[in-house]
Amino acid sequence: MAAEAAADIERMEFQLTLRRRGISDKAVLRAMDEVPREHFVAASDLESAYADQALPIACGQTISQPYVVAYMTEQLEVAPQRRVLEIGTGSGYQAAVLSRIAREVVSIERYRTLADTARDRLKTLGYDNVTIRAGDGFAGAPDRAPFDRIIVTAAADKVPPALVEQLAAGGKMVLPLGPRKAAQHLVKLTKTPGGQLVRENLIAVRFVPLLPGQAREL
Ligand code: SAH
Repeated sequence: MAAEAAADIERMEFQLTLRRRGISDKAVLRAMDEVPREHFVAASDLESAYADQALPIACGQTISQPYVVAYMTEQLEVAPQRRVLEIGTGSGYQAAVLSRIAREVVSIERYRTLADTARDRLKTLGYDNVTIRAGDGFAGAPDRAPFDRIIVTAAADKVPPALVEQLAAGGKMVLPLGPRKAAQHLVKLTKTPGGQLVRENLIAVRFVPLLPGQAREL
């Protein structure tokens, strides 16, 4: 059928774009291929689901650009035995991609509406190793810590101290740092067995801000 053929070509181009931009980890490319991004975007954006761009979702937030999702996942060095904490569930797309590689994903979102929608969506898709919580990501999930990997998908000025505490020794954290409307860049932190943080600066990015507290509005 013509429509199916067009969808196949679109998915092939999606993979090709990721590879061309430098994503080479097989598990990451497979996870990006497996997760149907059309289920995570607004109905009005279905046609752009596989374009390499961020798109608006409810509550004035965004679903990240596929390249950035793949890049952050690759930099996080996720493996099947790893437990991952995500701050900023949004649509649940990044959590879904992580869930295809990691053992378990806990994801926190400050808007209850987004958390509820993402939870239903992931359940429908059968991604049952993801737990989504409505709450304040600055506090992390102390009852589920320590985490081998932590990913933050909203930009803060500084690394939230609770997240550093909840990172296991030898663990890695990838997060965007920088002011709201100016340059932000991705940073990768590795906690040494002795508890020191080793910092590596990665690419320039643009994320919505990490805001304090759980959202009062729905
Ligand atoms: N990972 C998402 C992209 C989310 S955009 C995806 O794949 O679709 C960033 C999200 O972080 C927004 O939904 C925003 O509401 C949320 N956020 C901002 N500050 C937060 C905080 N303190 N705690 C939890 N979530 C937060």
